[in-house]
Amino acid sequence: METNTKTTPVTAPADDPRTADAVARARAERDRTEQRLFELLRIPSVSTKVEHAGDCRSAAAFLREELADGGLEHAEVLETGGLPCVYADWLHAGDDAPTVLVYGHYDVQPAEPLELWETPPFEPTVRDGSVYGRGTADDKGQLWIHVVALRAMLADGGTLPVNVKVIIEGEEESGSEHLDGFVERERERLACDVVLVSDTHMLSAEQPSIVSSLRGMAYCEVTVQGPAVDLHSGIFGGAVRNPAEALANLIASCKDADGRITIPGFYDDVVEPSADEREAMTKIGFDDDEFRRDAGVSATWGESGWSVYEQIGARPTLEINGMWSGYIEPGAKTVLPASAHAKISMRLVADQDWSRIGDLLERHLQTQAKDMPGVERVTVEPLHGGRPVLVDTTHPAMKAATTALEATFGKPPVFTREGGSIPVVATFTEQLDAPTVLMGFGLPDDCLHSPNEKFSLDQLHKGVETSIAFWHAYADVHDS
Ligand SMILES: [Zn+2]
Repeated sequence: METNTKTTPVTAPADDPRTADAVARARAERDRTEQRLFELLRIPSVSTKVEHAGDCRSAAAFLREELADGGLEHAEVLETGGLPCVYADWLHAGDDAPTVLVYGHYDVQPAEPLELWETPPFEPTVRDGSVYGRGTADDKGQLWIHVVALRAMLADGGTLPVNVKVIIEGEEESGSEHLDGFVERERERLACDVVLVSDTHMLSAEQPSIVSSLRGMAYCEVTVQGPAVDLHSGIFGGAVRNPAEALANLIASCKDADGRITIPGFYDDVVEPSADEREAMTKIGFDDDEFRRDAGVSATWGESGWSVYEQIGARPTLEINGMWSGYIEPGAKTVLPASAHAKISMRLVADQDWSRIGDLLERHLQTQAKDMPGVERVTVEPLHGGRPVLVDTTHPAMKAATTALEATFGKPPVFTREGGSIPVVATFTEQLDAPTVLMGFGLPDDCLHSPNEKFSLDQLHKGVETSIAFWHAYADVHDS
């Protein structure tokens, strides 16, 4: 028989003597696991609506009680200045054992438009093996995985091979306004070696995956000032530089015909994927045609030399989010505008620094504008920044997540790159100096933020067993 030296055999958590009892308990309690989750799903904890603040607090209290009942200690609802966080821990694995901080969020998106739901959003309903309702996948059903796994581990005097802390916030869907300050103030309580988050999806129920990178963001508003006031385009047009045209030229100067950004220094800090990683990305099964259909375009266009998947996940980009100038109401008005404006976002990849990138954009535009007499002033105002994230796939916790997923799903996970951002990951990197493992159990068709959101119950129960396997897998690699 041929042996593959690259893979070590993994044992299903039900067959591993260290986890078999916990898995048996979790399996025996599946009905309770679902019923208690449905209770949580019935609470309309919509954080963005003030009238649901009481519901958000009810969801926090529910989780605090469940964590305490499940054998965790120091279970508390902690005030943040806005909606509270739930905290609990179990810290008896010893000083040499690593500490995992599990993060989730109990708040949900608004359910509107209600008429598009097949069953009421806050009345969880099971159809075809999935539970439908707001917050099922994002994130109540996914955070529940770890609540249940910890309960199964700690029942009947059970213990954990690692120290575990749990933090569940209530403002994720409304911008996590108070989270940064909270994490900074509670840095000691939240100190950990790694953060574990289940709030993403895997490629499919058959192909587990772990998100290994997220893009960051530098968002700026650009203003080009021309004449002091709007001018008559007949009296002045042809002899005064039009700021809208100047803005168009300035923005055009940021990218070349190959889709490459021409701002000097822009790519200096970009970490290029290795040849191995690029090879692995070709096997992820990203469907260019489906992407094109989703986008509603006849052809894709981006930086040449990179696949569509890489253009989104591994490469930075510059996008115009809005442009305005002059007269934009119905009918004609012959005006030569005094100023022109654009909102520009640059999605960044590791290790680009958003504030430096904003400075580079400003310097580039001002240098270009020097050769444009009649442009009186160019200003670049930073509006928002977020740091890109690249998790080292050889980090012990990533290896543990890989082992746990393979043990449960029977197939090793692939690493995927997301084009978007999860701001809390950058918060944990900055404040706690800990990497984040994004071990999500959602599926691509879960309809997050949309009507008829769902979460597969099979994914829920497999997730619980993966979580049970993870604690031991992490303790193993940490020891070795
Ligand atoms: Zn979420």
